Amino acid sequence: MQHLVDVTPILENLNDAQREAVTAPAEPTLVIAGAGSGKTRVLVHRAAWLIDVEGLSPQSLLAVTFTNKAAAEMRGRIESLLDMPVAHLWIGTFHGLAHRLLRRHWREANLPQNFQIIDSDDQLRLIKRLLKNLEIDDSRWVPREIQYFINGQKDEGLRPQHLDDDGDPNRRQMIALYQAYEEVCQRGGLVDFAELLLRAHELWRDNAELLEHYRRRFTHLLVDEFQDTNSIQYAWLRLLAGDTGIPFVVGDDDQSIYRWRGARVEHIYRFQKDFPSARVVKLEQNYRSTATILNAANAVIANNNARMGKNLWTEGSDGESIKVYAAYNERDEADFIIARLRDWIDQGNLRADSAVLYRSNAQSRVLEEGLINAGIPYRVYGGLRFFERAEIKDALAYLRLISHRDDDSSFERIVNKPTRGIGARTIDIMRSYARANSCTLWRAAGAVASDELAGRAANAVHAFMQLIERMAQDVAGLDLQEQVDHVIHASGLIDFFKKDKGEKGETRVENLLELVSAARSFEPDPASEMSPLDEFLSHAALEAGEGQADAWEDCVQLMTMHSAKGLEFPLVFLAGMEDGLFPHQRSIADPNGLEEERRLCYVGITRAMQTLYVTYAEQRRLHGMDNFSQPSRFIAEIPDEHIEEVRPRVQVSRPMHTPRRSSAGRAASAPGNELGVRLGQRVRHGKFGDGVILNCEGQGAHARVEVNFETAGTKWLVLSYANLDLM
Ligand code: ATP
Ligand code: MG
Repeated sequence: MQHLVDVTPILENLNDAQREAVTAPAEPTLVIAGAGSGKTRVLVHRAAWLIDVEGLSPQSLLAVTFTNKAAAEMRGRIESLLDMPVAHLWIGTFHGLAHRLLRRHWREANLPQNFQIIDSDDQLRLIKRLLKNLEIDDSRWVPREIQYFINGQKDEGLRPQHLDDDGDPNRRQMIALYQAYEEVCQRGGLVDFAELLLRAHELWRDNAELLEHYRRRFTHLLVDEFQDTNSIQYAWLRLLAGDTGIPFVVGDDDQSIYRWRGARVEHIYRFQKDFPSARVVKLEQNYRSTATILNAANAVIANNNARMGKNLWTEGSDGESIKVYAAYNERDEADFIIARLRDWIDQGNLRADSAVLYRSNAQSRVLEEGLINAGIPYRVYGGLRFFERAEIKDALAYLRLISHRDDDSSFERIVNKPTRGIGARTIDIMRSYARANSCTLWRAAGAVASDELAGRAANAVHAFMQLIERMAQDVAGLDLQEQVDHVIHASGLIDFFKKDKGEKGETRVENLLELVSAARSFEPDPASEMSPLDEFLSHAALEAGEGQADAWEDCVQLMTMHSAKGLEFPLVFLAGMEDGLFPHQRSIADPNGLEEERRLCYVGITRAMQTLYVTYAEQRRLHGMDNFSQPSRFIAEIPDEHIEEVRPRVQVSRPMHTPRRSSAGRAASAPGNELGVRLGQRVRHGKFGDGVILNCEGQGAHARVEVNFETAGTKWLVLSYANLDLM
C-alpha cells in the first residue's frame, strides 16, 4: 500500500488504525472510538478513497452527518482532498436526505407536490387547534404531551393503526388524537420532522422498484455520530443497505446524548448482529486536546457503568491546568467569562476559536447581554434561531399562504396579524365551517364571508383574502428577493413593527429586512422542480436552528453542550456547572439519566483543544427563580491535579473588612462581605446539618445570617454563637 501514499494525499496524516479504516475492503465497517480520535476525519478520507482509489462514482455514496453545517464541511473537505467538486454526492442529515427523497418522489410518497415542512412550533400550534376543533380540554390533554407521543411513535416507525390501546382509555385517546392529527396533516400537505423520516422509510418499504433503484445506486453508506441514530433512522439505513449495501459507520458510545429524543446507542450492538461480518476498528489516539483535558475527560466518564470501554491517549503535551471559577452569581460568572474572552481576543486570537457551552438554553441570555455590552460579536449556534423568530415566522407564513392557500397553520398565524378586525369569534366560525365541511380554512373563509358573517367581519375577511390574492399576483414573475421584499411591506408587517417604538420593534424590522438578505443570498437548485420560493420556504424550515444569517463574521460561539457535539475549539468555557443545572435536576435521581448527563459532560470537556475553563455560580437566577447550588458533582470527578481554582474560597477566619479580590481583578462586593461570609455560601451546623446562606445582617457580635438548611429548613443564627463551618 505504501506506493499509494505517493499518488494520493488521502492517506497522509492518518495513523495506522485510521488507515486501516479508510482503506478497508468493501465490507461493513464499524469504527468505534473516543472523542477527537479522528472518526469524522476517517469518514471524510474514506469517501475520498472510495472515489479516487476505488474508482467509485460520487453518485454511489450516501453520507449522513448530524447537522447541515457538518454536511457542508464534509463536502468541502472531500472536495479539497480530491481537488474536484463532487456535486452528485449525497451528503446530509437524515432529515435533509429524507426531504430530498420525498421531493423527488412525492407521488409515490402520497404527498402533494408542494408539501410543506412544519417545525416543532407549527406542530404544537396545529395540535392545539386540533384539540379546540374537537372540543377537547387541553388542560387534561396537554398539547406538548400529545406532540411528544406522536413524535415518539413516528420515531419508532409506528402509525396509529399499529398501536394497541391495551384497554387503557388514556392511551386510546392519545391514539385517536394521533390519527386525527395525521388526517389534518395529510389534508393540508404538512410534514413534520418525524414524518420526514417515517415517510421516507415507508417510501422505500412500499415501493420495491424504487428501493431497488436506490440500492443499486447507493452502494456505500457512510454515517457519522452513529451512536445517536434513532429507530426509524436505523431502519431506513438497514432497508437501504439490504444484502448488498456496504455501511461504514463511525461513533462513540460515550457520546450518546440524545436518548431523550429517541436515539438508541444499542444500535452499535444491533449493527454487529445485522452485519455479523462487520470489521470493527478502534481508534485510541486523540489528536484534539492536551493530555490534561483528555485525562480529565477520561476520569469523568470512567464513573459511568454502561460503557464499551476504551482507552484514549495523546502524544500531546500536558498543557495548562483546567481552571475552575466559583462565581458569586450568574452575572459574576458572565463577567468573568467575558474578561477572559477579552484577553483571548486582545492576544490576537480568533473569536471563532472560542466557545461558551452551557446545559440549558436559557443560560445564554445573561451571557449574550454581557457580550453585547462588551461589544464582542457572538453567535448563538443552534439557539435563538433566526428563522424561528416570531416576525420571521410571520413573514414566512404570508409567503407560504401565497404559494399554498391550503396551509392552515400559516392562515391562522397571520389572518389577523397585523390586526385587521378579524376577531376570535370570526376565526371560530371559520374553524367550525372547515371542520363541518372537511375543508381548509382558506375555503371556509371564503364561504363564511359570503354567507354567515355580518357586514364588518365579512368585509374584513374579504379584504384579507383579496390582499393575499393581490400579493400572489404582484409577486408572480419577481425574483425571490423581490418577492420577499414585496411581501414584508405589502402585508403591513413592517409598518406594524415600526409602530412598536421600543428596541424590540426595531430589532424585528431589522430581522425582516435581514430576511430579504437571506433570500438574496439563497441559491435555488437549478435542477429542482419546485419554485424558488417553495425551495426557500423548505430551506427556512430545515435550516431553522443552524446558524444565523451572519455566520461569516468572526465571533464567539455560544451553544448548548448538545449542539457542540462533533465540534472543537482552542478555548472552551463550560458555564453553569452546578448540581441541579448540570447534571440536570430531573436526571439526578435516575441512574440512566445521570449517565447520559455525564456523557454530555464528556462531550463538553472534549471540545476543548488547549484551554478549558469550568465555571459555576453559587447563586443563580434562572427562569425568574433564585437557586443556591452546589458545584456540579462532575467537577469533583476531575482529579485535583488537573485543576487550578481561580478564586480561592473565602475563609471565615480572614480579618474582617479585607476586600477579597477575584481573579478578574474586582473586589467582590457581595453583601455579607464584612462578615467574612457570602450569600450562597455553603455551611455546616452541628445540629442542623448542611445549608446555604440566604441573607446576612448586623455587625460584629450582632451579625446574623439566615441559612436554608437542607433538612431543618430556614433559620436565622447569630454568627458568633452558631459555630458554622464554611464549606
Ligand atoms: P468527535 O468524537 O468529537 O466527533 P472525532 O473522533 O470525529 O471527534 P475528528 O474531529 O475527526 O475526531 O478529529 C479531531 C481532531 O484531530 C481534528 O482536528 C483532526 O483534524 C485531528 N486529527 C485526527 N486524526 C489526525 C491525524 N492522524 N493527524 C493529525 N491530526 C489528526
Ligand atoms: Mg466527529
